[in-house]
Amino acid sequence: MDYTARQEQLQDALDDHRLQALVVTHLPNIRYLCGFSGSAGVLLLTRSKSVFFSDARYTEQARAEVGGASVVIGRKSPLVEAGEWLATKGPKIKALGIEPEHLTVAERHHLVKVVGPRVRVRGAPPLVEQARTVKDPSEIERLRAAARLAADLFEVALKTIRPGIKEVEVAAELEYAARQAGAEGMSFETIVASGKRSALPHGRASSALIPAQGFVVCDFGVILAGYCSDMTRTVHLGTPAARARHIYSAVREAQQGAVQAVAPGVMIEKVHAAARKLLSRQKLVQYFQHSTGHGVGLEIHEAPRIAAGQRELLRAGMVITIEPGVYVPDFGGVRIEDMVAVTREGCQIFTPTSKELIEI
Ligand code: ZN
Ligand code: ZN
Repeated sequence: MDYTARQEQLQDALDDHRLQALVVTHLPNIRYLCGFSGSAGVLLLTRSKSVFFSDARYTEQARAEVGGASVVIGRKSPLVEAGEWLATKGPKIKALGIEPEHLTVAERHHLVKVVGPRVRVRGAPPLVEQARTVKDPSEIERLRAAARLAADLFEVALKTIRPGIKEVEVAAELEYAARQAGAEGMSFETIVASGKRSALPHGRASSALIPAQGFVVCDFGVILAGYCSDMTRTVHLGTPAARARHIYSAVREAQQGAVQAVAPGVMIEKVHAAARKLLSRQKLVQYFQHSTGHGVGLEIHEAPRIAAGQRELLRAGMVITIEPGVYVPDFGGVRIEDMVAVTREGCQIFTPTSKELIEI
C-alpha cells in the first residue's frame, strides 16, 4: 500500500476546501491512510506533514504498521495530543478540519480548547471516504479473496441447513469455518432468516427452528486482511410453490439486470432503477424497499450507496454489492447479493456462487 501517495492526495484536496489541516479520527480512514489497524489513534495531516498519535498500548504496533507518517506515543488521549502538537509544534493555521460524523461533541470541545481561539475547527467533507470508493489493485485482490472465502462458507451453510435445526446453529457452523479458514472475523452479524422470518430484510440468526417448508435467506461476510466481503443466497426447503418460484426468479432477474447495468460512467441511480424496473414488471416492486447495494472495502457499508437519487457516476475500481430483495409479509422473502467490481470495460462479479434456486 502506498500510504504516502494516499496522504499526499488528501493533502492536495485540503486546499480546495480552505483547510490547512485535517484531524482524522475514523479508524477505517486512519487504516486506509497510514496502515494502523489498532483501536486508538488519530492521524493529523497538515499541508506538509503527517503525524500519527496513539498511546502506550500501541507503541510496538504503531511503529510496525504506520507508513508515511511520524509516530507520537503520548500520555493523553490521541486527539488531545494531536491538538497540542498542532498548537505548539505545528504550522500556524487558520482552519482545522474534523470528521463531523466521527467526533463526539465532547471530543470537539476538548480539541477546540487545546488548539486555541485562533484556529477555526470545522467539519470537513468526507474526503477520505470519497478516496476510498476507488480501490487500488492490492485492495481489489483482498476483496476478491474475501469474497472467495465467503463463497466457500456457503457450502458449509448448505450442509447444515435442515428442518428442525436452529438458525443460530447454521450461523455458528459458518462462523466457525470462517475462523478456521483464516478470517479475522465476520464483517457483520450473520443473517440466517427462515420461513416467515425470511421476510425480515435484516433477520439476524435467531433461536427459531428452520421449518420444513419455505425460504432461508443467508447473508454473511468475512474480514480477511482488513477487507470485508458480503454475499446473500436464498435457498428453499421443500418443493417451492408456484408463488415462491415466481418470487425467486423475479429477484434473480432483477439482480442480474442490475449487475448488467454496472459500468464506468453509469449514473448510480440507474443501477437501482434497473432492479426496480424488472421487479415492477413482475408486480413485486412494492416488496422491495431497501437500496440495491453499497460500496464495500475496509468497512462493510461504505460509499457509494446504490440507491435512488444517487447521481454520482460509477468509476472503474469501485467495488459494490448488488442485492435486490423481495419480502412478502407472512409469506417469506428472497435476496440475492453479489460483490461486483467496476472495471474499465464493465464489471466483474467476485462472488462465484451459482444463483440457481437450491431446494433442500
Ligand atoms: Zn449482505
Ligand atoms: Zn450488503
